[in-house]
Amino acid sequence: MRYISEFRNSNAAQAILARIARESRKPVQLMEFCGGHTVAIFKSGIRQLLPSHIKMLSGPGCPVCVTANIDIDKAIALAEQPGIIVTTFGDMLKVPGSRSSLQKARADGADVRTVYSTSDALKIAGENPAKSVVFLGIGFETTAPGIAVSVLQAEEQKLRNYFVLSQHKICPPAIKAILDSGEVRIDGLICPGHVSAVTGAKAWEFITRDYHIPCVVSGFEALDILQCVEMLVNQVESGKSELEIAYTRGVNFDGNKNAQAVMNKVFEVCPADWRGMGIVPASGLKLRSEYGRFDAERKFDIIVPPAREPKGCLCGAVLRGVKTPLDCALFRKVCTPESPVGPCMVSSEGSCAAYYLYGDTDGR
Ligand code: SF4
Repeated sequence: MRYISEFRNSNAAQAILARIARESRKPVQLMEFCGGHTVAIFKSGIRQLLPSHIKMLSGPGCPVCVTANIDIDKAIALAEQPGIIVTTFGDMLKVPGSRSSLQKARADGADVRTVYSTSDALKIAGENPAKSVVFLGIGFETTAPGIAVSVLQAEEQKLRNYFVLSQHKICPPAIKAILDSGEVRIDGLICPGHVSAVTGAKAWEFITRDYHIPCVVSGFEALDILQCVEMLVNQVESGKSELEIAYTRGVNFDGNKNAQAVMNKVFEVCPADWRGMGIVPASGLKLRSEYGRFDAERKFDIIVPPAREPKGCLCGAVLRGVKTPLDCALFRKVCTPESPVGPCMVSSEGSCAAYYLYGDTDGR
C-alpha cells in the first residue's frame, strides 16, 4: 500500500473484521499504550466494530497527560520569573497545573511562546541574548532525540541563554509499572509505533519474556490497528506470547540507532514522576552533567508549593487503564475540551478528549 486512503479502505477493514469475528473466541482485554492509537481507534469506530468480548483499554501513552502537576507548576514558575522566555509546543499551554496554566500565566504577563520546533526556540534565544530561553522538554523517546540535537546546536552556536527543562519520559518502565501493579488484566498490548521507530521493537521484548503477554507494534491508520488486533487475537487463541511488528513500514527490531545515539549522548536515565503512577524508576531523562549548563533545573531556582490535583478528576486512574472517562462525574458536565479540568481532556491524544469527541455514550 502506498497511499493513505489504502490504509483506510473499507473493504479491507471489513475483511479483517470478519476474520477477527471468526477466529476470536476468548474474552480479551487489549491495551493500546499510545494516545495516538486511542484517538485513531475512536476516530475510526474500531471499538464498536469489534466483537463485544474484545475490550480495548487506553493506556498512559500521552506525554502531556502523564506530566505530573508538580512539573507543570515548575514550568509556570519559570515563566513567571523576570527575564525568562518559556517556549513550548502548543499542546502544553492549556494544561492545568495545581493553580494555573501556562496560558493563564501568559495572560498575566509571563513571556510564554508557542513554537513548532526546537529550531524556533533556538532562534528566539539568538534574537534575545539578554534573556534566558527555556524549552519545555516534554515527550517520549520520539521527541527526546530532537531536543537532544537542539542542545548540541546550542553548544555549537555558543548560545549561553538556551536551556531545557527536561521532563521527558521513557515508556517501557511505565508499562512494566502497570503490569507489576496487577490493577488491570492485559491479554495483549498494542505497542506504540512512533516510540518504537526510535527504540526498536526490542524495547517490548521483556513483556513477552517476563509477563507472557502478546505484543504487536502498530501503525496509526485504521487498517494498521485492525491488523494489529488480529495478530494479537491469533496469538491469544493459539496460546502464544510473541513480539511482532505490524508497522513494518516504520519500525524494525533495533530502531533508529542515530536517534538513540544522540539521545544517549545528551540525556541519561533518571526516575520520573508520572501522573497517576507516581515516581517510576528509570523512566525519565535528564541532561548529562557534560550538558549541565543547558539544564534549566540547575540554572534556575524553581520553588513551587506542594502540587494539588484537580478535585474529582480521575485522570490518574484513566491513565492506568483502571477507569474510563465515563467513570468521572465531571466528564461532559463540568469538564469539556473548552473548559478542561484535567490534562486528559486538554491533550489531542488524551483519552477523555477522545471519548468526548468521538465516543459513544456507552463508552465503546
Ligand atoms: Fe479529569 Fe476531565 Fe477526564 Fe474527568 S473527564 S478524568 S476531570 S480530564
